[in-house]
Amino acid sequence: MEREIARLDKLNLVGEMAAGIGHEIRNPLTTVRGFLQFLATKEECAKYKSYYSLMIEELDRANSIITEYLSLAKDKPLKFNMTNLNSIITTLFPLIQADALKKNSSVNLEMKDVPDLLLDENEIRQLILNLVRNALEAMPLSGNLTIKTFSDVDNVVLEIQDEGKGIPLDIMEKIGTPFFTTKDDGTGLGLAVCYSIAARHDAKINVKTGSSGTTFSVRFLPNQNKNKNKNYL
Ligand code: ADP
Ligand code: MG
Repeated sequence: MEREIARLDKLNLVGEMAAGIGHEIRNPLTTVRGFLQFLATKEECAKYKSYYSLMIEELDRANSIITEYLSLAKDKPLKFNMTNLNSIITTLFPLIQADALKKNSSVNLEMKDVPDLLLDENEIRQLILNLVRNALEAMPLSGNLTIKTFSDVDNVVLEIQDEGKGIPLDIMEKIGTPFFTTKDDGTGLGLAVCYSIAARHDAKINVKTGSSGTTFSVRFLPNQNKNKNKNYL
């Protein structure tokens, strides 16, 4: 519980800082990206083409780090609507499949009929993408990623399962703490964002892990309070 509180305090602080500077940094990045893209099409720059794509890729990476920070910021009201998890997954599927393909992995979808839930669609997309990216990164050579939805007695459940080497016990204690990463190029923000999105949806995240892979389950409560948006009106 104490750990949970420390985590949330840190998240709020990171969120406030992100809200302060994130937008300001993003604007100049967008301008630079635009000019780089323009220069890359010029004949006199042709011999440096590979440098231009590298610069653009790096800017995109910086931009996605800012996006992760900004999603910790609660500077915009959430928009809850009755939405179906399966339709969100179906919309994301081409993106997920393209990511998987780049890593020689495949994606299985096992979606059962589930009731609509009160969700902020943008946040749930980000939650799914963050878990999917971790799952793919856990299988550096190749593997199967499985995305499941189903209902059980109490919950509507979303599961993201990989065939990676699992999460060691000492690391399990730290995951989800902002900035904790075991990756050379990680931000350590992906799971922190997932936990805060889950908390805003009254959902719980469980992790099962072992030497044959890891499963992240997000358990939503059906029949949530349909007046959620009222807080923000
Ligand atoms: P990042 O991906 O930038 O490292 P995250 O918050 O998304 O940050 O993840 C934190 C850490 O949790 C990762 O560095 C990794 O050690 C561990 N982790 C998360 N998901 C998985 C997974 N599916 N398999 C193995 N390790 C994982
Ligand atoms: Mg991550």
